[in-house]
Amino acid sequence: MLTDAGLYLRFDGYDELKEVLAGSDEDVLVALGKPALIRIPGTDPAPRSRLASCLLHGNEDSGYRAVLEALRTGEHHAFDLWVIIGNVRAARTDGWFAHRYLDDQEDFNRTWGVSPPTTRMRRCCDAILEILVDTDLEAAVDLHNNTGKNPYYCVVPDPTQEALYLAAGLADTILRWPLRAHTLMEALSPVCPAVSVECGMPGIPDSTAFAFGALRRFLDRRDLGEPTPAPRRVFEMQHRVVVRPEVPFAFGGALSEELDLVLAPGMDGHNFGMVLAGTEIGRAHPGAAMPLLVTDMRGRETTDRFFAVRPDGALVVTEDVTPVMWTTTVRQTRRDCLFYVARRRA
Ligand SMILES: [Zn+2]
Repeated sequence: MLTDAGLYLRFDGYDELKEVLAGSDEDVLVALGKPALIRIPGTDPAPRSRLASCLLHGNEDSGYRAVLEALRTGEHHAFDLWVIIGNVRAARTDGWFAHRYLDDQEDFNRTWGVSPPTTRMRRCCDAILEILVDTDLEAAVDLHNNTGKNPYYCVVPDPTQEALYLAAGLADTILRWPLRAHTLMEALSPVCPAVSVECGMPGIPDSTAFAFGALRRFLDRRDLGEPTPAPRRVFEMQHRVVVRPEVPFAFGGALSEELDLVLAPGMDGHNFGMVLAGTEIGRAHPGAAMPLLVTDMRGRETTDRFFAVRPDGALVVTEDVTPVMWTTTVRQTRRDCLFYVARRRA
């Protein structure tokens, strides 16, 4: 086992991994203690390579469990299989899979190719990227969960034909995400087709089963450049909706001296569907100003196009919108956003 300045653990082949994989999924987190980069050598004489990444968000267990299940088979593929296990520290703090990232950390899926490399996490990303871009990558997938109800879908940062084929082979809903957010898949998109797979809510056996199925399809497909059946639905992300940082809020319940905004619960049921103009999505105190802030993918404010606060405090949608990733927790809203507005393209 090699380490790179202690930033992450490096494993080459199953022999080095055997001891680590012996325990439960949770035991593996304890054994690792930090991010891991794993290579399982391919059987081709001059193998290309594929990357499967998981747990960049410490609360998203499905992809992680699926990856461990795949590794425990001891299989070798024609290609070198590279695996990243991301925010191990967050995943094993305060119980299991309790934090997307810790208070003293940045979001591990927002630190790929970020300057300056001031922190251990940023340096870890730089060091891993440097290795990966030298490995003749033919494709990369990154496995995630959502905190609200969503269908299974793929996020495609750079919609090349190859990336869309890759995505359509993994899920039947595709979300094109042109946001520059320094995600791992964005950083790898200039190198190879690279997509994220969103595997439903964490902590649910169905989500792990989907993640494992997607991973299997990724590993078993001989030719990733081959056309796949067209996806059922393609969406493009266009706007990002946040609650203004100074506004204390909750999902459900009543307004109070402590709460300036109460959001309607259950809105995540509309993800990838439609919320019609006029729908009330929350309540503010009468006379309060707009508590939400909306920006487009270039960072220009677009709040007025989508929302209004009526004089009685009702927060309403003013245009039909397709939300994606509408979350259900205050924490996730603060750490990422309330939801994104998407447009259906096909
Ligand atoms: Zn995630």
